[in-house]
Amino acid sequence: MTARVLDGQALATRMQEEIKPAVKAFTAECGRPPGLGIVLVGNDPASEVYVRHKVKAGSDVGFRVDLERLPETATLADTLALVGQLNASDVHDGILVQAPLPKAMGGGATQRVFDAIRPEKDVDGFGAESVGLLVQNRPKLVACTPAGIVELLERNNVPIRGRHAVVIGRSDIVGKPMALLLLHRDATVTIAHSRTADLAAVCRQADILVAAVGKAGLVRRDFVKPGATVVDVGMNRVTDEATAADLYPRDHPRFALFSAKGSLLVGDVHPEVAEVAGALTPVPGGVGPLTITMLMMNTLSAARHRVGANHVDAVAPRE
Ligand code: NAP
Repeated sequence: MTARVLDGQALATRMQEEIKPAVKAFTAECGRPPGLGIVLVGNDPASEVYVRHKVKAGSDVGFRVDLERLPETATLADTLALVGQLNASDVHDGILVQAPLPKAMGGGATQRVFDAIRPEKDVDGFGAESVGLLVQNRPKLVACTPAGIVELLERNNVPIRGRHAVVIGRSDIVGKPMALLLLHRDATVTIAHSRTADLAAVCRQADILVAAVGKAGLVRRDFVKPGATVVDVGMNRVTDEATAADLYPRDHPRFALFSAKGSLLVGDVHPEVAEVAGALTPVPGGVGPLTITMLMMNTLSAARHRVGANHVDAVAPRE
């Protein structure tokens, strides 16, 4: 068997085209486009790349996107003050603070900043109120990566209700909200993590297996029930040859790419899983592109809500 590819890039492109007319209509009606304020503190190279993609995606669909930068030396108070300005702004419907914040701000700073964002502008869905509403199955703005995964599953007609879903990873940004979204769609959900005993056996129970770990190729063939749907959230940059060779035969085009570039972006799921799974998200081109698309959906939804138009929750449960 070779798994059906769940093409996140294609869906992301289609959804961004779907958003554009809605953005045009909003802009015509309100005399301004939906607005997104992005806060970037410091110069973390990965954050720079993520933010650049978010600014571009937002501009491409017709949003006003303002990137607000603070220096690496900024304090928590500086960051909270900037969030306060964006909270008060009439032209910003969504606010996103790029994590991680500089370590010098201290433990707990990131969540304090997330919690300071007005819930109706919390387009990342990381604030305490957004999370609480999700727990109670009355979601407003839901974390973008798991929300994108639900879109991908539903639009590819992957059945969720009554199925067993195993989510590997229990982070606040992926694992936990993913498990809740699946639970609220009537899946039976198991959350696995680094202390789970016999991870492979737990995963083999899954009709839907979501890997959100951050370990290249962790999910092997023996983790997967034949025909299961496997969602690979992992984004791992491989830079050593032994790991690349463990993932791909040396005559594979992806190994050639590694040799040419000296690094390779891979997921948490070993490529051999494609021989067992029924459906599989690729890396790159699976979950990643949908994360940014859901940020666009959330921003549009927040904008509509703020101006009192029909608020369409991006991932409201479907009956
Ligand atoms: P995280 O906060 O580091 O959480 C990783 C989770 O994996 C933790 O719950 C951890 O368990 C668990 N884990 C670690 N080693 C394990 C093992 N050997 N067996 C079972 N579980 C293990 O990571 P995250 O922020 O959720 O991100 C996970 C991955 O998704 C990363 O590769 C990240 O880059 C990627 N990501 C991708 C997107 C996207 O748009 N595609 C978005 C966000 C994240 P404990 O809780 O016990 O430590």
